[in-house]
Amino acid sequence: MKRIIEVNEKLAYIVVEPGVTFFEVCNHFAENKMNLWMSVPALGWGSVLGNTLDRGHGYTISGNRQHFIGSMEVVLPSGEVLRTGQWAVPNSPSAHACGNSFGPQVDGLFLQSNLGIVTKIAVAVDIAPASFMDIKIHCPEVDDIAPLIDTLQQLDREGITQSHHMITNINHFASHDAAKHQQQSTQGPLTPETVAYLKEKYNTGYWRCVAALYGPKDLVLARWKRIQEVVSTNIPFARIENTFYEGENGQPVDNTKIDSLYAGVPTMNPIKLADYNLPADGSGAGAHIDTTLILPCEGATVLAWFHKAKAIMELEGVDPFIGCHVFPKYILFVQEYVFDKTNPKHRQGGRKLIRSLLDEARENGFANYRSHIQHMGKVSPCLSERWM
Ligand SMILES: Cc1cc2nc3c(=O)[nH]c(=O)nc-3n(C[C@H](O)[C@H](O)[C@H](O)COP(=O)(O)OP(=O)(O)OC[C@H]3O[C@@H](n4cnc5c(N)ncnc54)[C@H](O)[C@@H]3O)c2cc1C
Repeated sequence: MKRIIEVNEKLAYIVVEPGVTFFEVCNHFAENKMNLWMSVPALGWGSVLGNTLDRGHGYTISGNRQHFIGSMEVVLPSGEVLRTGQWAVPNSPSAHACGNSFGPQVDGLFLQSNLGIVTKIAVAVDIAPASFMDIKIHCPEVDDIAPLIDTLQQLDREGITQSHHMITNINHFASHDAAKHQQQSTQGPLTPETVAYLKEKYNTGYWRCVAALYGPKDLVLARWKRIQEVVSTNIPFARIENTFYEGENGQPVDNTKIDSLYAGVPTMNPIKLADYNLPADGSGAGAHIDTTLILPCEGATVLAWFHKAKAIMELEGVDPFIGCHVFPKYILFVQEYVFDKTNPKHRQGGRKLIRSLLDEARENGFANYRSHIQHMGKVSPCLSERWM
């Protein structure tokens, strides 16, 4: 438990046991001056193995971690030990470099499941790039999310973008800075006046999208040029900005000097969102629960769903609290319910809200991609018994 078994700097993968956290992997890279970046999730405290098996994701090129599994060692209920991919080949020099099996691939049986205890896992990491660009696209109005998503999809189809993008709405990113009572004195969802105030305060729009580019400077700048062209043609109302980093003396970018998830830098800052709806007197304990639906990467579908989800959330007296992970063909649409877990009304409201969202999702043909165990019973009807 908790050991980093191997780091292969050339082939860019790590082999770890359960319990090794993202912070520990990143510290290991820094202490050993390895030119590798770990694709960290928003909170660095989780385990690499747990996050991978839960189909978690980071924000760099290898962020869609389940698709970057090299191999696994699994103890089966029978007590037998199974090794997947090329690790099943005795003495294979590509044991952790290639997940291919000969015949059916069984890795998927151990993701979000209880069919075995995974005791070791190999996952790919990123090679520290020569340059890195952090890009922000600010879109002023609610309905702008539709053309924004279609713009991101076009950029992916053209081969310009390299990793997934994150779109958050205004109260989501405002929650990382201050609790709601500091932003609005009245109860209930944010008023149009507060939304306008927050846009000005954070110099942003209702939606903020973060994207990133990696690689040799010339390529990064060429990709950036095309992003500017497509954004100014498709969504001229958007404001786009970047921060560019280049390694010194021919070395790769040193991400320990950058405060960005998109550069694989672990943090605990986003945990602040859990305290967003706590009372002004300092009492209570922050928590959050969410539904994360899989939607197609199509602007109109996402906007139509957002309006439905917003209505359901506002009926419960809470803000739509959205983190939208944009992958090339699909979107993980996170709707947070942020609450005070010492408050029974908040807890009941959360259960009711998640049930309502999942009922509506089922009507629309969407399902959760991962779920709290408490809501598994509501997620399973989203999938047809016939096809499960
Ligand atoms: C504010 C906030 C932001 C977050 N942002 C992100 C984000 O950006 N990206 C993201 O991916 N997640 C995110 N999360 C979710 C959280 O970080 C992940 O749930 C966490 O990384 C999972 O790690 P863990 O150590 O808690 O896993 P665990 O809870 O230990 O494991 C998760 C699951 O993996 C399986 N599992 C674990 N160990 C084994 C084993 N040895 N054998 C077999 N199966 C096993 C089990 O099914 C288990 O339920 C966020 C959470 C919060 C609160």
